[in-house]
Amino acid sequence: MTLNRIPGPDVLGAQALDAARRCGVDVTAIGGDARHRSPVNGGSLGGVAWCESAGLDEVVARSQEAFLAWRKIPAPARGAVVKRFGDLLTVHKSDLGELISLEAGKITSEALGEVQEMIDICDFAVGLSRQLYGRTAVSERPGHRLMETWHPLGVVGVISAFNFPAAVWAWNTAIALVCGDTVVWKPSEQTPLTAWASAALLDRALTEAGAPRDVSQVVVGGPAVGETLVDHRDVALVSATGSTRMGRAVGPRVANRFGRSLLELGGNNAGIVAPSADLDLALRGIVFAAAGTAGQRCTTMRRVIAHRDIADELTERLVEAYGRLPIGNPMAAGTLVGPLVNKTAYETMVAAVKQATAEGGTIVAGGRRELTGEAPDAYYVQPAIVRMPAQTDVVRAETFAPLLYVLTYDDLDEAIALNNAVPQGLSSSLFTRDQAEAEIFVSDEGSDCGIANVNIGTSGAEIGGAFGGEKETGGGRESGSDAWRGYMRRATNTVNYSGELPLAQGVDFSI
Ligand code: NAD
Repeated sequence: MTLNRIPGPDVLGAQALDAARRCGVDVTAIGGDARHRSPVNGGSLGGVAWCESAGLDEVVARSQEAFLAWRKIPAPARGAVVKRFGDLLTVHKSDLGELISLEAGKITSEALGEVQEMIDICDFAVGLSRQLYGRTAVSERPGHRLMETWHPLGVVGVISAFNFPAAVWAWNTAIALVCGDTVVWKPSEQTPLTAWASAALLDRALTEAGAPRDVSQVVVGGPAVGETLVDHRDVALVSATGSTRMGRAVGPRVANRFGRSLLELGGNNAGIVAPSADLDLALRGIVFAAAGTAGQRCTTMRRVIAHRDIADELTERLVEAYGRLPIGNPMAAGTLVGPLVNKTAYETMVAAVKQATAEGGTIVAGGRRELTGEAPDAYYVQPAIVRMPAQTDVVRAETFAPLLYVLTYDDLDEAIALNNAVPQGLSSSLFTRDQAEAEIFVSDEGSDCGIANVNIGTSGAEIGGAFGGEKETGGGRESGSDAWRGYMRRATNTVNYSGELPLAQGVDFSI
């Protein structure tokens, strides 16, 4: 089903600038030659200025200078700034949501959900600002105290992907700021206005509080700007979100200079459907996880591993549900599937479908382009389902598009083995009403992913948990739980108040 009414470039360009202006962006100051396009109609959203890699030394130097002042401000006071930022996000939720739809192509509900996630992480960070706890330990020596203390780390470089153009930065920034760090953000080159608008709201909160200048900075540009940030020895932590290809380049470069990296890379997430599963619930969970965001979430469900007894029925019901998905202008009421981000994304999907059929798969739903008359430069596509005889090469790769493979299994061990037999390790889920199966899935012998869910899909995580995954997903954890520790340095302190100097392990060094 398609929903027409795709607006023209002039309308969307003006809409984007208005929304950015309302968030406090000086739109005359950010203009430049680099054109970026809206996935909604494939037309230009205007020109933005890109930073030169050569200018990054100065940016990082300013960030470092700001850090020396920011780290002295008590964490709860830093938290108060983040609280104000969260309030401003609440006021400008629809403005920022509009920009996310225009630049990333998300449907309104998901775009607003992304802003809500930013508000939620601010709340979390405000609480955290009074809970940066260290432990004390008992000393083996009399009259000694052993404790750990946590300290601000320095400049944090955030590199983010197009598909969460604001929330990923907010996850990192809200936590980094309460931890006493400063942030330099290189957003996706496809979503610069969302970045400028998000940063303008934070700038306002920082300025109102009288915070040092340059606690938060944005550098807009392509991979070369990211690389300069990655190589900069004064960037203490590089938090990079994007493809595994990007992480493969970034990880070793940061390690080479003994910097710290936090990598959030590609996923290839499976949902196992057991014979006891509530199929109505599984169906809804799978359709949202697989077709939502037009298949462009790192946690998108890309594989269904269905028990042989229910695989046919489940597939039929999925095909029927896919046929009812409203595809079209992401900002129109009722749309559930918006556009792919660009032509390359579409071509990658087409190539994957072709490879899947060559590897024995059968297309059972979707795959065709939509709205080519209405929006010839945009890439709307019917979410596709391909039944596969085995977990072949194409199934083991992440194709960042709404392409769902259906595989079958006979016993749970086999299903878990299939779940784990891909290079990525981000998210996974099991639909079952059998409690023992659920426990096995989340046990040591179960899913090897950073996220293992039961009776919900693979996507749509809350901010309270640590987010990230294993293997080629990069191993990083951000957002909730104790992910804050990645943004601080830990010191172990031994304090001797005994007046003697006993040595540990009974070592005798009498002079
Ligand atoms: P991408 O890898 O093309 O780009 C991501 C960011 O990295 C951009 O800002 C880009 O300019 C920058 N970049 C690219 N090469 C670089 C290099 N060599 N050095 C420094 N920076 C570089 O990814 P994308 O197309 O924007 O996003 C989609 C990908 O991101 C998918 O693979 C998806 O799974 C992944 N992703 C992962 C998570 C997660 O939390 N695990 C979240 C969102 C997206």
